[in-house]
Amino acid sequence: LARRLISDCIFCKIIRGAYKLIESEFSFSFLDIGPIAKGHALVIPKYHGEKLHDVPDTHLADSMSIAKKIAVASGFENYNILQNNGKIAHQIVPHVHFHVIPKPEDSDKSG
Ligand code: 5GP
Ligand code: ZN
Repeated sequence: LARRLISDCIFCKIIRGAYKLIESEFSFSFLDIGPIAKGHALVIPKYHGEKLHDVPDTHLADSMSIAKKIAVASGFENYNILQNNGKIAHQIVPHVHFHVIPKPEDSDKSG
């Protein structure tokens, strides 16, 4: 497994010890600590890369496959997949992650 773990990266630490939703060879998923909707999950490649273009395609494809599984398992018809790159683009944690955010039927239509 081509994996790069960075010791002081919070998401690399989570791979090593947090509650997980689904794990695969290349990806790990867990609930967001500050959910913007019930069930808000994060999917990360185990490979440490700060931005999307830092991570090999096979790892990203695997993470998207996991995001799909979570979306199906969530049981919601409506959901957003979000992925931020760079501080100005609202990226806080510098390890690529995909937000999987269910949108319940009664959620704010403006959001
Ligand atoms: P970003 O703005 O970088 O796209 O999103 C980072 C996300 O990571 C935020 O939604 C934040 O709540 C979540 N997060 C940050 N630190 C932790 C943590 O230690 N554990 C978990 N589960 N989520 C975290
Ligand atoms: Zn990392």
